[in-house]
Amino acid sequence: MSNFPEKIKNLQNEILKLKEKHDFLILAHNYQVPEIQVIADFCADSLKLAEFAKKADSANNMIFAAVWFMAESGAILNPTKKVYIGNYEAFCPMARGAPEKLMKKIKTINPEIPLMMYINTTAAARAQADYICTSANALKIAKLINKPLINFAPDKNMAYYIQSKLNITVNPIPLKGCCIVHEKFDAKYIKNVKKDHPKALILAHPECRPEVQEITDFIGSTSQMFKFVVDSEFDEFIIATEIGLLQKLERETKNKKIYKAHDKPICYNMKKNTLESIKYVIEKQPEEYLVTVPEEIAEKNKVLLNEMIKNSQ
Ligand code: SF4
Repeated sequence: MSNFPEKIKNLQNEILKLKEKHDFLILAHNYQVPEIQVIADFCADSLKLAEFAKKADSANNMIFAAVWFMAESGAILNPTKKVYIGNYEAFCPMARGAPEKLMKKIKTINPEIPLMMYINTTAAARAQADYICTSANALKIAKLINKPLINFAPDKNMAYYIQSKLNITVNPIPLKGCCIVHEKFDAKYIKNVKKDHPKALILAHPECRPEVQEITDFIGSTSQMFKFVVDSEFDEFIIATEIGLLQKLERETKNKKIYKAHDKPICYNMKKNTLESIKYVIEKQPEEYLVTVPEEIAEKNKVLLNEMIKNSQ
């Protein structure tokens, strides 16, 4: 915490004390700002956050510095804990593109086609799925399904990723569903960065468009990209994902050079979590920040999430 301004350090220290006093664990997604990443008990991608939340037993409360669907997964996997979100307005816009009603309709029209859903959806919508995946295990899960045709919601770019790697047909539902942050990366910009740094490897998240996926050296979740950089014998990387991961890499891999693949790769929804909002939630534990999932939806999700975690090993 030593490089932060005094005001930030004071706030971080207050949160750390409140966290002990009110018996909280802080779980942060890799897209959080650095001042939140460094005070979190655990900072990772959505799969690892779900695995951590499932096993967490050192506190009675958890706060997710993330977006709703991640906190919902934590609440479902570890129902003995109280789970809070760092800002109740932190929603993933893509998750809203595949509502429960649409997923029910798809299952009714095509009951025989497996419905695989990205975890970036609401728990209510996910309850309609046959399988759940994250960006870290999408290929593994699709391989296990072992069918030539899959319906996949809600990211068309992730659908393309699975289809192109496994040579099967993956129908994107809805047709144009995507992450507004990753959709912005374009191959031309990345090729220009590469011209300036010819030795750099290109890494991208599978939520990036096909034209970006096709020029990469590695595609993976944020935790997989982090590991790739740490383990790599190369020193320079162009990274097509949200800025939070690049900041984490710059902080934790001092000998590597990290280049942005877009001018402003920022998820403003993730950034609705702030030190101030986290302090407020831990201190006051307001009802509207408490994450609850109706029992029937939670039960269906629990089965699917546990299956996904088991199949990710
Ligand atoms: S980066 Fe994209 S998919 Fe992730 S929370 Fe933000 S909008 Fe949703």
